[in-house]
Amino acid sequence: MTLLEVRELVKHYAGKRGIFAGHREKVRAVDGVTFALARGETLGLVGESGCGKSTLGRLVVRLEEPTAGKILLAGEEITGWTGRKLRELRRRFQIIFQDSSSSLNPRRTVGAIIEEPLANFGVAKRERQERVAELLTLVGLEPGDAWKYPHEFSGGQRQRINIARALALQPELVVCDEPVSSLDVSIRAQILNLLRGLKRRLNLSYLFISHDLAAVNYLADRVAVMYLGKIVEILPAEGLVSQARHPYSRALLRAVPEPDPRQRTGRKPVVRGETPDPARPPAGCRFHPRCPEARDVCRQDEPVLKEVGEGHLLRCHFS
Ligand code: SF4
Repeated sequence: MTLLEVRELVKHYAGKRGIFAGHREKVRAVDGVTFALARGETLGLVGESGCGKSTLGRLVVRLEEPTAGKILLAGEEITGWTGRKLRELRRRFQIIFQDSSSSLNPRRTVGAIIEEPLANFGVAKRERQERVAELLTLVGLEPGDAWKYPHEFSGGQRQRINIARALALQPELVVCDEPVSSLDVSIRAQILNLLRGLKRRLNLSYLFISHDLAAVNYLADRVAVMYLGKIVEILPAEGLVSQARHPYSRALLRAVPEPDPRQRTGRKPVVRGETPDPARPPAGCRFHPRCPEARDVCRQDEPVLKEVGEGHLLRCHFS
């Protein structure tokens, strides 16, 4: 059953001034994105920094307003929700950010931080305290940790506190925006395991945003690859390695480091060239200046996202 649907979503920002007086270039952070997310599903969203994936996450939870397009929750359009309805949405959709420290107020105890959303929704003090103890246990911390301050915890533990707070109001969808990127490799695996366990236990849906394809592949049911404001490929995670067909997806896969250090060659065939300026995306296929398979038609005609297999969508003229 579909929980979230995003249709032709667009977010343009006013960029720097152009060469003509009064003219501002438009930064096309998100430029016509369409996807659906089922209840209990994890959609991994992967791409280089600056491709628009974090903006897309903030648009979904309505922390930013789209320039155009629609977002639907269980078939109902939420793009125009304000007031009471938007408040209700804040309960149903939550977001976890990358930096576990900056999202926790250092002057408040962990208990006060986790119970804040409950207080905002009018939950009584006693019930809040019980819920905080439950949440801390759920994320692998101790109920007594409620009396400590954020600086008394490691980076991984602080991210557990962020997860506990995000789950306080029993949301249906959690947008995880690079939640493990700032953590050490061993801690990263623990947090990914925690997120995976919580998803199963609470039937959560995740939009899991990361530049780390290995982390996305570990957690996601399907993977969406984003390049310069557009999704270029969506496919089931189990087929990612063997079936990804877009030249950009394949380049990202080649750049994933070999887990066994003895197998590492030191050669990283990452995508050649710099990401183009999102205020001036290339004509035709946006990936053509960096694509080893580009031909004349790629420089002129923009490919559309079309079905090439079961659950597999691809934006490329050829691959
Ligand atoms: Fe490369 Fe052309 Fe496909 Fe774009 S449309 S990814 S340039 S082959």
